Amino acid sequence: MAGRVTRFAPSPTGPLHLGHAFSALTVWQRAGSGTALLRIEDIDRGRCRPEWEAQIFDDLHWLGLDWPRPVMRQSTRGAAYRDALERLGELGLTYPCRCSRADIRAALSAPQEGVSLGPDGIIYPGTCRGRRVEEAGPDEAIRLDMARAQAMVGRCGFHETGPLEGWHEADDLAATVGDLVLARRGFGTSYHLAVVVDDAAQGVTEVVRGEDLFEATAAHVLLQRLLGLPTPDYHHHRLIRDEAGKRLAKREDSRAIAKYRAEGITPREIRAMVGF
Ligand code: GLU
Repeated sequence: MAGRVTRFAPSPTGPLHLGHAFSALTVWQRAGSGTALLRIEDIDRGRCRPEWEAQIFDDLHWLGLDWPRPVMRQSTRGAAYRDALERLGELGLTYPCRCSRADIRAALSAPQEGVSLGPDGIIYPGTCRGRRVEEAGPDEAIRLDMARAQAMVGRCGFHETGPLEGWHEADDLAATVGDLVLARRGFGTSYHLAVVVDDAAQGVTEVVRGEDLFEATAAHVLLQRLLGLPTPDYHHHRLIRDEAGKRLAKREDSRAIAKYRAEGITPREIRAMVGF
């Protein structure tokens, strides 16, 4: 479809592997005659490396993919994330959180609490909810009060163009996602806030991503509504698995595209391996 804008948004924390190749090829396929963007998700400065970024450019070119310059880098977008965070704060929906992972696990081992998992792992039990942003220490995370946020927005959802095609309601997020981290300790943002702000800034009309992010997407739709941003369509693709049916992990270097390249495999063969 002409005018469609999609994006491939890798983090330069390791080599691209077969799963990334499939995701990238799907992004460019979905763009059709429109535009496929590349965005570098490098907010975690400690884990991102320039050499991985260079390898991403090189591998994507080798696969026959190209994109408009300049490439957006999340490490340069701090002011935009700060504005969005402030806006959510003004709505009275954020609070500072000083809980460590161990604190959260300890709170959940209380007899009446069960452990449920959301997109970021264990759903936060709400220990710090009720604290005010003004009392935030210098190195605390900021969370979204999900129940209040959902009550403020009311019904919302997204149109899915992938295998689960159709309208999906983003409801019950307090139970399925919980109080999402909007800014990680010392980062000024989280993955969730950054992608929502950036997809809108780049005019993305269809987000193509793995089906493992389906729950996160529902929370992103809510954030878009709170921030007055448009909701794009979503295309959640299947995940590439190894022979044992196990999902390829980010650090699965044995499946790195660079490794196949070194062995003399052609781009056409990589495409065929992931079903293109
Ligand atoms: N940087 C994210 C990843 O590599 C992007 C996923 C997304 O938002 O679509 O998983």
